[in-house]
Amino acid sequence: MQKKIVVIGGGPGGYVAAIRGAQLGAEVTLIERHKIGGTCLNYGCIPTKTLYKNAELLNTLKHIEDFGIQTGEVAIDVEKIQSRKDTVVTSLVTGIEQLLKANGVHVIQGSASFVSEDTLKIVLDNGETQTLTCDHIIVATGSKPSMPELEGIDLPGVITSKELLEFDKVPKKLVIAGGGVIAMEFAGIFAAMGTEVDVVIRSDRFLREVDTEITKRFAPLLKKNGIKLNKNVSLSRIEQTENGLVLVGEGKKGEVRFEADQILMSTGRGPVMDGLNLEAAGIEFTRKGIVVDTHFKTTNPNVYAIGDVNGRIMLAHAASHQGIAAVETIMGLSHQGNHDVVPNCIFVFPEIAGVGLTEDQAADQGIEIKKSKFLFAANGKALSIGEPDGFIKVISDLEDTILGVHIMGPHASDLIHEGALAITQKLKVDAIANTIHAHPTLGEAFAEATLGLKNEAIHMV
Ligand code: FAD
Repeated sequence: MQKKIVVIGGGPGGYVAAIRGAQLGAEVTLIERHKIGGTCLNYGCIPTKTLYKNAELLNTLKHIEDFGIQTGEVAIDVEKIQSRKDTVVTSLVTGIEQLLKANGVHVIQGSASFVSEDTLKIVLDNGETQTLTCDHIIVATGSKPSMPELEGIDLPGVITSKELLEFDKVPKKLVIAGGGVIAMEFAGIFAAMGTEVDVVIRSDRFLREVDTEITKRFAPLLKKNGIKLNKNVSLSRIEQTENGLVLVGEGKKGEVRFEADQILMSTGRGPVMDGLNLEAAGIEFTRKGIVVDTHFKTTNPNVYAIGDVNGRIMLAHAASHQGIAAVETIMGLSHQGNHDVVPNCIFVFPEIAGVGLTEDQAADQGIEIKKSKFLFAANGKALSIGEPDGFIKVISDLEDTILGVHIMGPHASDLIHEGALAITQKLKVDAIANTIHAHPTLGEAFAEATLGLKNEAIHMV
């Protein structure tokens, strides 16, 4: 008998699960209350990366004379920037809608909640309600910004990433509360557009998931790009003054005040579970998200929870692969994906990417390691394109199995996949070192870093 799967949420977790389910012969219904593509396509990964391109071009223009090119005064057309971003988003969302249709996925536009272990109530966009009973349900409702309880948090101009993406003029002064990936990406984008950016963080660490050597080397580059990092500040309140907003905090030496036109609250994200009535279906959850096992199955054996809503890894590609795992398990297949090796890319200047163990994690786990680093300053392609900052670091165990790869530099987000492949396949250093990497490419830096582990790097002493 054909299996029936209902997916709640059409983000990169939900829509991928729906397509994979249809490919495997299930009858799939996808319920989405807002826009297909979810946070990622509409308010996250994609719009930020189109703006990242604007910022990258502006940064290049700042030293375009180095390339022997003269330009006139550079002007920013916000309307055009927004329309390009919207065109990219619309074309991707439309593409996903067509894929869902082509795969025979039935899409319902409405908001779903549980009424029992296997039945959902759906409030349709036209206000009507409908119930749906199904053996297999996948919850993929994503996440939303977690706003701290702070006096003044509701003032106009205190915004989340979703609102900042819709900017209609470039702010003169932007204060960003938080030092995570979203905070640092927006800092880079707006600093490139000429905004004075203050990043305010609670401790002395930012981008906590990143290799510490990289964050240490990245901090001075932030300064070079006009971003001020203010450490060890606990937030007190937000004030409205005649001149705009002020974020008030308590620093090590007393009160500190940061003036701004707008304040981006980037203090973390939490799961979207409100209104789902999870209790009715016997689904356990915590503040961090829906509790799942290694197959992303909830405490209700017929319900799975994938992506941001289970609070495991808040990344689009993790959500998609969890969706595939859930569907394959439902369809009785033995899922082969490795959910422990997930590359993490940060679109700052220069890009940062990592996969596998950091040095700190290896030390915490008592694993003895070897490490090798190759600087982009010694790589022909990096110098040719004028982007010599950064390095590739490869970490292996004492038997030469690659455990971690950490990159800061040009196209780090593209280069990281060789590392992800090496770690997923438990490759030895020689597997990379003996693979001929084309010249002149950034990839050569990867090969040289692995050669370095054997003290055989050619372009490094
Ligand atoms: P979502 O994409 O959030 O989708 C959930 C969907 O469920 C939504 O469409 C929502 O409307 C729907 N929904 C919720 N409740 C219901 C309900 N009751 N009934 C019906 N539908 C419902 N990740 C990366 O990997 N790379 C990046 O570069 C990156 N950049 C980001 C930049 C920003 C500014 C932000 C905010 C996030 C970024 N992320 C990035 C994170 C990424 O967007 C998320 O990890 C990803 O979208 C999670 O996918 P998901 O399917 O779990 O949830």
